[in-house]
Amino acid sequence: MSTKEIPYKIYLEEHEMPKAWYNLRADMVNKPAPLLHPGTHQPMSLEELSPVFCEELCKQELNNTDPYIEIPEEIRNFYKMYRPSPLIRAYCLEEKLGTPAKIYYKFEGNNTSGSHKLNSAIAQAYYAKQQGLKGVTTETGAGQWGTALSMSCSYFDLDCKVFMVKVSYEQKPFRREVMRTYGAEVTPSPSTTTEIGKKILEAHPGTTGSLGCAISEAVEVATSTPGYRYVLGSVLNQVLLHQSIIGLETKAALDKYDIVPDMVIGCAGGGSNLGGLIAPFMGEKIKGNADYRIIAVEPQSCPSFTRGKYAYDFADTGMVCPLAKMYTLGSNFIPAPNHAGGLRYHGMSPVLSQLYDDGLMEAVAVPQTEVFQAAEEFARVEGILPAPESSHAIKIALDEAKKCIETGEEKTIVFGLTGTGYFDMVAYEKFHNGVMDDYIPTDAELEKYFATLPLVE
Ligand SMILES: *Cc1c(COP(=O)(O)O)cnc(C)c1O
Repeated sequence: MSTKEIPYKIYLEEHEMPKAWYNLRADMVNKPAPLLHPGTHQPMSLEELSPVFCEELCKQELNNTDPYIEIPEEIRNFYKMYRPSPLIRAYCLEEKLGTPAKIYYKFEGNNTSGSHKLNSAIAQAYYAKQQGLKGVTTETGAGQWGTALSMSCSYFDLDCKVFMVKVSYEQKPFRREVMRTYGAEVTPSPSTTTEIGKKILEAHPGTTGSLGCAISEAVEVATSTPGYRYVLGSVLNQVLLHQSIIGLETKAALDKYDIVPDMVIGCAGGGSNLGGLIAPFMGEKIKGNADYRIIAVEPQSCPSFTRGKYAYDFADTGMVCPLAKMYTLGSNFIPAPNHAGGLRYHGMSPVLSQLYDDGLMEAVAVPQTEVFQAAEEFARVEGILPAPESSHAIKIALDEAKKCIETGEEKTIVFGLTGTGYFDMVAYEKFHNGVMDDYIPTDAELEKYFATLPLVE
């Protein structure tokens, strides 16, 4: 079969779209460690989780047994508006590179939020509505999650309160306005509207905020306002479950043409897109039905997998959230201010952390200037302006494709292109002006944060 028989874009018909999410945990031999109560250090029960998260989402969070969970019809219909997302054969890039490698990428940037985050936001809003809630609270950093959630809440007529990391609130006014267009209330964090926000401001006057801090504020408002719950856009098991739609579609599209990847590559912040993309491939690998190299790519300035500790840690700065066992840099870790490339959360999904610890996947950390070089190299051939986060995956996909030039191997590379970079032009500007540098934390700095990890027996 000549390779050109594989189209540039592999679409699925509506009837070929997945009807259930895939819950990889059911097939994991070593299950991810349970969330622990921050006071008692005992596993969180459904009753303890329910005041914070929506009931059905708590059940999904704790479900380590059902491999498939049906996608409710209303969510499937919403998905149909912007999914399936295209799986693109990067013929143009291959030709430009002169590589024998076959490169495919799954593009999740074709919706207003500009990223994969809508896949979980719409599901979380749906379950909040089903429960009869009035609204939800959340945090957002760069703004993609806040945007996705605002879109989903407006669709289901729910209130949406977003705590946006202050530095992003100020630097990304257009993100903020997109959220307000969808009716969300956006507050810069830390704020004086919460007890924890006031405490943090007192301790660190002039702080520009962090995700961990915004999470604490959002949780406080959710648990102190009747009819509200807190929702999170990454890290949690339920989010990886919803994001499995990415991997299921990818696998279905590849199967149509009998394409078997050698490696699957994705960027890793909290781990949701990567967890979703790799889910069906990892499932086969665990069952011994196939073998794939699975590669997580993270920034050198926030290297949770490659330099973090696998330990129980707080998910937030205010230490109000359950403890999660994950690869972590410590909940007080904040990447250097010159880090522009996203993926700045201190911890990694407990599911991915367990898989990594079991040696089932690899991780690599890359410096941000190389990430932006790769982004540009990609954009100039494939036409898509990639998000800095996504460009971490591009960087390693390009490296692997270039290795194939030397070895002559025709490796099949699949990577996740999680979003577009239209709102990241300040970062691109820094790169173009040559004022972007590669800050890498020293071991001594990391030790300082590790010292604050909670002691859990
Ligand atoms: C949020 C985001 C990421 C990282 O989040 P994960 O939970 O690790 O997937 C990556 N790319 C884009 C475009 C994002 O918006």
